[in-house]
Amino acid sequence: MTAQRPLLELIGIEKSFGQLQALKTCSLEVQEKETVVLIGPSGSGKSTLLRCVNLLEPPDRGNILFKGKDIGRDLRAAPLIRQEIGMVFQNFELFQHLSAAENIMLAPMKVLGLSRLDAHDIALGLLRKVRIPDKADSYPDELSGGQQQRVAIARALAMKPAVMLYDEPTSALDPEMIREVLDVMAELSAEGMTSIVVTHEMGFAKRAADRIVFMEAGQIVEIANSADFFGGTVNARARQFLDQIL
Ligand code: ADP
Ligand code: MG
Repeated sequence: MTAQRPLLELIGIEKSFGQLQALKTCSLEVQEKETVVLIGPSGSGKSTLLRCVNLLEPPDRGNILFKGKDIGRDLRAAPLIRQEIGMVFQNFELFQHLSAAENIMLAPMKVLGLSRLDAHDIALGLLRKVRIPDKADSYPDELSGGQQQRVAIARALAMKPAVMLYDEPTSALDPEMIREVLDVMAELSAEGMTSIVVTHEMGFAKRAADRIVFMEAGQIVEIANSADFFGGTVNARARQFLDQIL
């Protein structure tokens, strides 16, 4: 990894919900083209951290630098930031009344002002990219979970984001569909899409992650290169967690 300025810098992020400290001074730098896999027990703060990155949750304290600019301070800029930071959720969250193509076309038309024709071209290209070229006119309830999640990925890509955030993108899927979604994500990573991925899929982490971040009780406990992590040099708590999920 070169010593260039990180694309994304989280510096001392804190976030509480009432009495509960969900994030306790979390700091993380993500380089351009890097894929970081975020793991940790349920409730450790993984989703909250991702949601802070694209300002769905404003942090209480700390700084979020994106391309060197502090984006955490001015929430009016949040819609602009979210164009550059795509997010994919566990439950797809597609618009049920829109076809696959229309789900993808919506933001390019509304936000970027593209014509319907141009947006449709983009949608078809992205549906090819996520390997469901023949599903443009299908509605979410006509698609499998794996296909819906790939439409959600295509929808996020339509805004040409600089970073993709995935929050347990395969947790709601039947086992036979997990692979097709992970394959698309791994391909994007290999092509240089900067990504932060919350997942328990250690096979994916092994093949796609540059670094692994282990969280526990609102803290980043360990940040390790993928090779070191899977080579066995992990801290005891992370090892214990891995043993539980593998
Ligand atoms: P993870 O994604 O690692 O399972 P979360 O980030 O979802 O963890 O949650 C971290 C902690 O913050 C949990 O204790 C959770 O219950 C709490 N939490 C998350 N979001 C909210 C919220 N909107 N309101 C209150 N508590 C929340
Ligand atoms: Mg979560």
